[in-house]
Amino acid sequence: MVNKIITIKSIDILNQYLQTDEFKNHMRVSVSVFVQIFSSNRDVTWMNDLESALRIAMPTGVIAGVTTMGEIAAGRLLINTTVISFAFFEKTGVQGFLIKGDQGNASELGNSFLREIEMACPKIAGIMLLATPFTMNVTDFLRGFSSGRSGNYPVFGGGAGDYEAAQEPLIALNGNCTSTGVLAVVFLGDKIQIDMHTYLGWQPLSKEMIITETDGLWVKKIDDEPAFKVYHRYLDIQNDGDFFLNCLEFPLLLKRNGIQYAKVPMEVNEENAIKFIADLKEGETVCIGYGNPSVMIEKANDIQNRIQTVNPEAIFLYSCICRRFLLQSEVDLETRPFENIAPTSGFYTYGEIYSQGKSVMLLNATMVAVSMKEHNGEKRGEEKNGEEKKCESLEHQIAKPKPLDPFTSQHTRIISRLVKFIRVVTEELEIANTEARRLAERDYLTQAYNRMKAHEFIENEIKRCDRYGLEFSIIMLDMDHFKKVNDTYGHNLGDEILIQLVKLIALEIRTIDMLSRWGGEEFLIIMPMTASDGAKITAERIRIVVEQTEFTRGLRQTCSFGVTAYKKGESLETLIDRADKALYEAKIKGRNGVITK
Ligand code: GH3
Ligand code: MG
Ligand code: MG
Repeated sequence: MVNKIITIKSIDILNQYLQTDEFKNHMRVSVSVFVQIFSSNRDVTWMNDLESALRIAMPTGVIAGVTTMGEIAAGRLLINTTVISFAFFEKTGVQGFLIKGDQGNASELGNSFLREIEMACPKIAGIMLLATPFTMNVTDFLRGFSSGRSGNYPVFGGGAGDYEAAQEPLIALNGNCTSTGVLAVVFLGDKIQIDMHTYLGWQPLSKEMIITETDGLWVKKIDDEPAFKVYHRYLDIQNDGDFFLNCLEFPLLLKRNGIQYAKVPMEVNEENAIKFIADLKEGETVCIGYGNPSVMIEKANDIQNRIQTVNPEAIFLYSCICRRFLLQSEVDLETRPFENIAPTSGFYTYGEIYSQGKSVMLLNATMVAVSMKEHNGEKRGEEKNGEEKKCESLEHQIAKPKPLDPFTSQHTRIISRLVKFIRVVTEELEIANTEARRLAERDYLTQAYNRMKAHEFIENEIKRCDRYGLEFSIIMLDMDHFKKVNDTYGHNLGDEILIQLVKLIALEIRTIDMLSRWGGEEFLIIMPMTASDGAKITAERIRIVVEQTEFTRGLRQTCSFGVTAYKKGESLETLIDRADKALYEAKIKGRNGVITK
């Protein structure tokens, strides 16, 4: 495999290259050619003219085009140009597929596209996808695509963008252009090795928040407030035509299965809901994130070292536009070293496509780096060599990019420090808030919830039950003859027994139940989703455990219990009053008993 990258501003320059002996020699020894066009020009005619010129020189080549938000050639960012990357394969077949995205349900389209590809291609070594996330639900498409996959071959690629952020991208395959769709280029056979890597480098800035309402790709509420308010409050971003550009560097970050993902906002509507490029689910915890340049460059360096051990013949980069926004003129610090390993081309994307096992995802804010090389079909052996070479070649590791002028990378250094500063301050505040909340909610002696928190909890339960027709019960319990303990052994021992009692009860109730200290040696247990029968059983169980426990100094204690269930429409006071009365009855009936009312 040979990879050749050219940059052109006119068809003439392309034609000049197509006439060279170098090009003709490559064509002579190739079984297939895969051409990628990364174009800043969103003009269909331009795409078609390029295709026509290329088609004459390579009648059977697979030609895939995409509009970008920045082109990468020789590991460098280029702006307002067209980069053409030729991959000449000697042993590998290449086949292209295109599907329009406006023909119905995205997930079903993804599934039928995958089926079409797998039927037509017997030995898939990898698939590159180019998609248009602005104009269709690519996340759903990829979900359908993943569900039918028969192999674990790598799938990678990116989302088309456009410079004006007009959200009208183009993709093109063999002369067919569309602004809504997905194209696939399939690499065939067992003589190609494709390795992929991805990394994010974005770090949390804000406190954690919860997605409380969604509708498809729209996030309506965060922490029960219109989603846009978060962007307005923390970043002073306005609900206007520049929303997309202003939010680009500030995706929401979330963790799924321990892996951090970023989701970039796409647009905001009149109701202040925000549409994201990929799905967020209700109940997920998110925070606003920002890129940390040192982390990004360090991780890029790690990947460069790993890729180098494979000795690839080509590297393709699909890097999110927000990395370009963040790093500005220093963006090449991340991409340039790839070129020291193999010819490197690619583009700045709106969404990166990356597979993990069978699942193909649309990522945001990441860099996806793909390396390719052809071999003789002895991949396993070569991998072993690769491992050995890894050790040998340590001293040849890619040097970290060192800016010649110490002032040049101040931008990224300052950002790294500020991101760190904001994160540490936020973490400190979060710890302080959590502690303040705990102190405000808990009883100092026993660490059970206090009466104020119990009130709040019951009021919420009442609202929930009235709204959804649910039930809940409460248990009021009081130590029997506790005064005697204090009088005989002193207040300190009394305190110790109260602490022990709370620990005992906590073991007997569910995590969703709430135990609070209602007064002196009187406790209230609130049990959501529980009828009085269930609460009575729990009370009886606690009664027996207490009775059978040896407290400090071998003391024996008992408790009396009043149990009751909430009746729809009643007030907190009426409910508590009934539990009190049940408890009183348990006392006069001789104590150490449970009464239900
Ligand atoms: P009864 O079986 O009728 O409940 O008898 P009792 O002695 O437990 O009576 P009551 O519940 O009215 O008495 C509460 C006693 O609990 C009074 C006080 O000595 C004790 N007490 C209340 N709060 C605390 C506390 O924080 N620490 C200690 N050590 N004792 C407490
Ligand atoms: Mg008592
Ligand atoms: Mg009492």
